[in-house]
Amino acid sequence: MSNVPVAVVTGSNKGIGFAIVRALCKQFPGDVYLTARDPGRGQEAVAKLQEEGLHALFHQLDIDDLQSIRALRDFLKEKYGGLNVLVNNAGIAFKVHDTTPFAVQADVTLKTNFFGTRNVCTELLPLVKPYGKVVNVSSMVSSSALGNCSRELQQKFRSDTITEDELVELMTKFVEDTKKSVHEKEGWPNTAYGVSKIGVTVLSRIQARMLNEKRKGDHILLNACCPGWVRTDMAGPQATKSPDEGAETPVYLALLPSDADGPHGQFVSNKTVRTW
Ligand code: NAP
Repeated sequence: MSNVPVAVVTGSNKGIGFAIVRALCKQFPGDVYLTARDPGRGQEAVAKLQEEGLHALFHQLDIDDLQSIRALRDFLKEKYGGLNVLVNNAGIAFKVHDTTPFAVQADVTLKTNFFGTRNVCTELLPLVKPYGKVVNVSSMVSSSALGNCSRELQQKFRSDTITEDELVELMTKFVEDTKKSVHEKEGWPNTAYGVSKIGVTVLSRIQARMLNEKRKGDHILLNACCPGWVRTDMAGPQATKSPDEGAETPVYLALLPSDADGPHGQFVSNKTVRTW
């Protein structure tokens, strides 16, 4: 079993995830795994970094597929006895003018951004070693969507006692409410992406709390963040930041020094803790 520190970035064959891997290859003292759901796209991305003189390793990971997540888990357990850095970056967003019915958009978006990310956390968080770092890439859109939720929902999502099961129930209810076309009446905002990222931010707050309760001595720091508005296939060419600039905050959180006691359980953008 290798004692080399290991970092894993989900959805890193392109966009912000690729830029996070590039930065980690330069700054992380260990093995860096570029992961992708499609091995061809993943290997191509590794080769692109190789041309820049950077050495990333590859492992397949589709966060929609529990078997794929568990295969990565078993690999990390066997080869490294765990992992040191996990960046949950993989995500999807329908384009604004996409005509796919809203209920389908809600189902598909929540499936990857919330449920997929949660499944990765369920399988990999127990493997994170002491002084490890976990970064969940959310979005400022989670904050604006929260502001557009009913008072009752806002209260639930800001609660310091909400459980993971309660959050899962709420995310499931959103998808069900869109199918019955009652989501607005039920206090939800009209954005599937926004609700999925509320889920990611609130999940991060819950997970950080659980680490405090169950693994305090391990000094693991876990945060949600927004990379900013970044020129990728998701956000388009008008966005203000380059992918490398978008990677800065996630990488800052992934490389917090071992003597740092925060941020932890926060929502961070531009390397600054934001009020949730
Ligand atoms: P992107 O260029 O579209 O890249 C998304 C990445 O996620 C791709 O590598 C994609 O793989 C991967 N992915 C999607 N579904 C996956 C799955 N089921 N399993 C594994 N990988 C999957 O988007 P981006 O702008 O870099 O976004 C990265 C993260 O930042 C997302 O979580 C996004 O919500 C967040 N974000 C972006 C912005 C922005 O302005 N760009 C702003 C705020 C937050 P494929 O190539 O196979 O599709």
